[in-house]
Amino acid sequence: MSILVVGSVALDTVKTPFGEVTDALGGAAVYFSAAASYFSPINLVGVVGTDFDENSLSFLKPRNVDLRGLEKAEGKTFRWGGTYGDDLNSRDTDFTHLNVFQEFKPVIPDEYKQSDFIFLANIAPELQLDVLNQVTSPKLVALDTMNFWIEGSLDALKQVLPKVDILIINDSEVKQLAEESNLVKGARIIQNMGPKVIIIKKGEHGALMVSEDFSFFAAPAYPLEDLCDPTGAGDTFAGGFIGYLAKCGNPTNADYRQALIYGSTLSSFCVEKFSLDKLVDLSQEEIAERFNQFWQMTKFEPAK
Ligand code: AMP
Repeated sequence: MSILVVGSVALDTVKTPFGEVTDALGGAAVYFSAAASYFSPINLVGVVGTDFDENSLSFLKPRNVDLRGLEKAEGKTFRWGGTYGDDLNSRDTDFTHLNVFQEFKPVIPDEYKQSDFIFLANIAPELQLDVLNQVTSPKLVALDTMNFWIEGSLDALKQVLPKVDILIINDSEVKQLAEESNLVKGARIIQNMGPKVIIIKKGEHGALMVSEDFSFFAAPAYPLEDLCDPTGAGDTFAGGFIGYLAKCGNPTNADYRQALIYGSTLSSFCVEKFSLDKLVDLSQEEIAERFNQFWQMTKFEPAK
């Protein structure tokens, strides 16, 4: 089933202990699409400036990513810069130049309006609401947000959350949104705001899924010896997760569990190289192999 993604398309300048890149391809919608397109067709809505080289997205076309919704506006492309600390867990934002993203008003092309699955990447909650007002009865809506919107646009966020099925969010953002320091209690508070499934991303500590019936499923992060750049790992995770759910169509509980592992699998590849370098030509075989390594790593027998 097709997925509509609305979010940033960016040029990132990133420094990690392992090197740096300037104006490298990035943006939440790009990372999401690169991962989700391994499973399902994607309709992308975003904006770039006249300085953007569309050829950098050409790897997405054979993977069924429709880029007709990518607007080219007069001005410069959104740019973001970040520097990571030694263990890659901490990150300072060096700059956020919104440029053409500042005036971005997502217009959903008619041919995208009936997309079955929707992923609202990290943009202003007012815009996320606006997108939902333009689409016709999607099967499933997932949303990402960040501390910036929780602090600055809480009312709008609380208006959009009742229309959302799955919230994908960091552990620190759960605590902030729920105003509760216990993650489990926080997840319950957020479920009462609307989304019935809460996916809590915990960086190198993996991800926790809190389901509608308040049962849990946890995935570790894949233990990697060589990490390079964590930028986009969260959006890549969301891409693997939602991409697989869309492939399933009417996902069961077991599908949701597999989806959490696919999200973890894709994000583990993302961090191995800078920018989208690893996701550009990752094969289905590599994905299947790592998925199975997750299974080997976590399977155990019930107590006797
Ligand atoms: P993550 O590492 O999951 O936080 O995602 C990083 C990606 O998000 C980068 O490629 C950035 O270009 C993009 N990004 C950073 N800040 C913002 C923002 N305020 N709005 C939209 N996208 C952003």
